[in-house]
Amino acid sequence: MASPDPQDFTLSAELDAEIARAAGAMRNARRVMALTGAGLSVESGIPPFRGPGGLWTKYGEPPMDGYERFLRDPAQAWRERLSPSAPWAKALSETLAAAKPNAGHRALAELERIGRCACVITQNVDDLHGQAGTRELLEIHGNHRLLRCLECVRRFEPDEIPVDPEALPPRCPDCGGLVKGDTVHFGEPIPPDVLRRCYEEVSAADCMLVAGTSATVFPAAAFPVEILRSGGIVIEVNPEPTELSEVATLTLAGPGGAVLERLLRYVAGDAESEEGRVS
Ligand SMILES: [Zn+2]
Repeated sequence: MASPDPQDFTLSAELDAEIARAAGAMRNARRVMALTGAGLSVESGIPPFRGPGGLWTKYGEPPMDGYERFLRDPAQAWRERLSPSAPWAKALSETLAAAKPNAGHRALAELERIGRCACVITQNVDDLHGQAGTRELLEIHGNHRLLRCLECVRRFEPDEIPVDPEALPPRCPDCGGLVKGDTVHFGEPIPPDVLRRCYEEVSAADCMLVAGTSATVFPAAAFPVEILRSGGIVIEVNPEPTELSEVATLTLAGPGGAVLERLLRYVAGDAESEEGRVS
């Protein structure tokens, strides 16, 4: 494997046994899905927004009324998108452009490929799950690469719509609606098509892998709760304890890359735990 672990993490025997246990639970589950957040992309060089080293800690928070501003003056919002001037926006767009999927993204894509993960819901806009090969992907906060029609919610690749700097904002070729970046702004509703599919997937699953997020913000916060309420299990993968740890069925305390890679090996059946073969 390429990419050495940035944290030089060594798997303890205790954590390894816990991962083996989680893998056993996943193999016994009817339908497994995953929920991911910013913590999973830290190993891809994308800093969190808040906290030490966070983009907003460094550059100041972006406007909390971003969606309202967009609606008030879409042309100006588009000019800002085409050539970001705010330092945080500039830093974010450069960081996103340079980021590559890490072992955690790849492990989730592989779990899907071998039929052990039905879909991934992510709060991340960084496109890294898609780049790693995950196909059933629900990006609740959108995808920074894509554009979206605010009327009919159709998504567009950047080159699908001509963006003329002299005639902003661009309009949807299907319905004439206002076209915006797909990333969900502050104050903007979660796109209804994605939210509906999230609830469908959550109600069909009986096992949820939660990685790189404490899932305390709506709507993500509702998903693990719903899985537990209906008798399913929640497996948390976070380096530090979170609020979720108190309710999760199993908590795997380690970095997403190393833990998910090991979990994949157990689920796929090509690793053995200290205590013997996982069934
Ligand atoms: Zn449209």
